[in-house]
Amino acid sequence: MAGIISVTDLCSFKFCERGLYIKKVLGFREPVKPVMVLGSIRHKVYDDANKKEEELISQITSDLKRNEVLQMFANAYNGILNKSIVSFSQQLRDLNMDLNEVTVNMHEAVASQAASRADEIISFSSKNNVFGEQLWQQLTPKIISELKVSSEKLRLKGVIDRIEDRGSEYVPVEIKTGRAPNEGVWPDHRLQLSAYAMLLREELKFNIKECLVKYVAADQTRQVVMNPFMEYEVTETVNSVFQLLGQNEIPDVCGKSYCIWLRTPIINR
Ligand SMILES: [Zn+2]
Repeated sequence: MAGIISVTDLCSFKFCERGLYIKKVLGFREPVKPVMVLGSIRHKVYDDANKKEEELISQITSDLKRNEVLQMFANAYNGILNKSIVSFSQQLRDLNMDLNEVTVNMHEAVASQAASRADEIISFSSKNNVFGEQLWQQLTPKIISELKVSSEKLRLKGVIDRIEDRGSEYVPVEIKTGRAPNEGVWPDHRLQLSAYAMLLREELKFNIKECLVKYVAADQTRQVVMNPFMEYEVTETVNSVFQLLGQNEIPDVCGKSYCIWLRTPIINR
């Protein structure tokens, strides 16, 4: 067994141990589902938009009106969305998904992300009275996207969607499309972010105090303040995953419909 697992394995473990075992130990590959391709497109959009940020911001001059900046971001994000969908067109067709329909469905979330980032930048610009290249230099938070992190010590690796670089602190951010809980964040999101915070601390030698989950459908940002119990939960879960992967028997069906329909591959040992 390899000495390192991914943060998504921790989440899979919490969701269904048998599913994780079948995938990791028996090597059964899940067929690609629409939600996975949509997730990949969404990641690509935010990553590409982030890479374009310097170029966009350098065009923000003092005579540009708020609406014009919002429009500039909306157009840029829209163009990136269209390009990303084209780059995944083969996978979408393989799943019999309609490209136009996907574009329409993703448009709203992308537009709201564009608007909220533009708003953040506009308010920084007016508060500090900086524009163009100077605005880019001074802007906080800057966004680091799709950062790969790994640690032998934690026996964990992962890719962090977004990190807000606030100059004196780093804040991991997860963007979630699903339903938001009434308060706080879902337990698996908390686990995921705690793991990222620990990995980031190892990587940057920088203490991570908080994380954020953006529930885009509910248009809400929820804060997760790090504490020792959450770190304990992560290390305990890592231990449990290694224990599971090292065992010989396939775990029992847990009762989730996903699990019930998951056929055990026939294996010869
Ligand atoms: Zn299960």
